[in-house]
Amino acid sequence: MKDSSAALETTDYTKTMWKQCLEIIKANVPPITYNTWFIPIKPIDYSNDVLKIQVPNNYFIEWIDEHYNTLINKVISQVLGENGKLVYVIVEEKDNLFEAHEIIEVVKKQPEAQISAVSDIDSHINPRYKFENFIKGEGNQLARAASIAISDNPGETSFNPFFIYGGVGLGKTHLIQAVGNKILEKHSSKKVIYLSSEHFTVEFVDAIQSNTVNEFSSYYKNMDVLIIDDIQFLIGKEKTQDLFFHIFNTLHQSGKQIILSSDKPPKDLKGLSERLVSRFQWGLTADIQPPDFETRIAILNNKSKSFGIALEPEIIEYIALNIKSNIRELEGCLIKLLASASLNSKEIDLALTKKTVKEISTNKQTIVSIENITKVVCNHFSVDENKVREKNRKKEVVIARQIAMFLSKKLTTSSLKTIGLHFGGRDHSTVIHAFNSVDTLLSNDTYMRETVDSLRNKIELGAA
Ligand code: ADP
Ligand code: MG
Repeated sequence: MKDSSAALETTDYTKTMWKQCLEIIKANVPPITYNTWFIPIKPIDYSNDVLKIQVPNNYFIEWIDEHYNTLINKVISQVLGENGKLVYVIVEEKDNLFEAHEIIEVVKKQPEAQISAVSDIDSHINPRYKFENFIKGEGNQLARAASIAISDNPGETSFNPFFIYGGVGLGKTHLIQAVGNKILEKHSSKKVIYLSSEHFTVEFVDAIQSNTVNEFSSYYKNMDVLIIDDIQFLIGKEKTQDLFFHIFNTLHQSGKQIILSSDKPPKDLKGLSERLVSRFQWGLTADIQPPDFETRIAILNNKSKSFGIALEPEIIEYIALNIKSNIRELEGCLIKLLASASLNSKEIDLALTKKTVKEISTNKQTIVSIENITKVVCNHFSVDENKVREKNRKKEVVIARQIAMFLSKKLTTSSLKTIGLHFGGRDHSTVIHAFNSVDTLLSNDTYMRETVDSLRNKIELGAA
């Protein structure tokens, strides 16, 4: 084991450089963010335009990158200059907690010009998502096994396309990127690309505007592995679907691997063209279910270890018993615990854990789906769910449909167009009309207002 304390000695010059960076950061972020995420960072070294800073763990890099990418780039060019580079260093604990260190360097930012000059394609794959840190559980067994098989032989298994679906925060993005990481590790020459369907759409729209649709299309047709996350966002985007259809065919015919994720199975992707839905079912479809208690414990143990903290079993158990639906929240809870403990120099004890869990549960943004809204509303009015999607003009069907549309607009971020698609492909003006009718009804009719309020509560509780 090597002692890295010498490597971590900091000169005044390095400190000054980092201080200049901090000044810009401080002026641009809220105090709580600054204290939680930037104060714990320590400058290590500055030489040859490269500033090395030490962060407590990978999550800091992730978090900062996700929320403050633009700011950091600005800081780099202002303080470190055009050729400046910021390198994050993570000091990992070894067998003996915090005694011996191993330094992992993560080169975080390079000026844009350098990136395009050096690399051919940017995979957009996050190196954090690996199979090694993906905990196996009953809920993800098939999806995980298939992902591993694919990463061993991309394009050569019958799992093509490979379609993973499941609720939010259950590990879809992690798994499909783990496939990408593994393939790149084994065959660095393979052209692997990951992007969300929204990102894909935005690029497509740009390509239309700049008259480069052909280039755009051949770029993706040229990939060995195409990974598209959250494919449900292609709903209602016919032109993008068309183009994606052609890319899909070209890749599939030439034995290239296609990996997709979605919040629901292909057949439930209402508003996606049938030819796409049928192709999505050609290969393997696997779901991911929420983790059971044992898996949650294993995930918490594993994550706290990667944070370099050892938590008492009773604390792990308390979190696992109280946060059930989603792995992102388990992780969020640990990060929050870590942040408040380090901020107040407090021990992580059961009291702090209880408080944190409670805060997470009350701040929780509820995630509701149009399907769930429809189900709850139809149940209440004893209307068959299919009827609200058909052209049925019976009074109770119309009212259930309009209230479901109204609540979909209120409780989800879906566009009018998407909502219309979920209700039998109705047009967005129908959704506006429904919204206005219900809105008027609610302001004139106390009974209806109470009914809709209680439906709303039910939906939000069901989603929580
Ligand atoms: P989704 O894409 O399904 O919404 P993500 O893949 O983003 O979910 O997962 C949410 C968070 O939970 C990520 O940080 C991911 O690393 C973590 N995670 C999910 N499943 C697992 C697992 N089985 N083991 C370890 N971490 C997991
Ligand atoms: Mg995801």
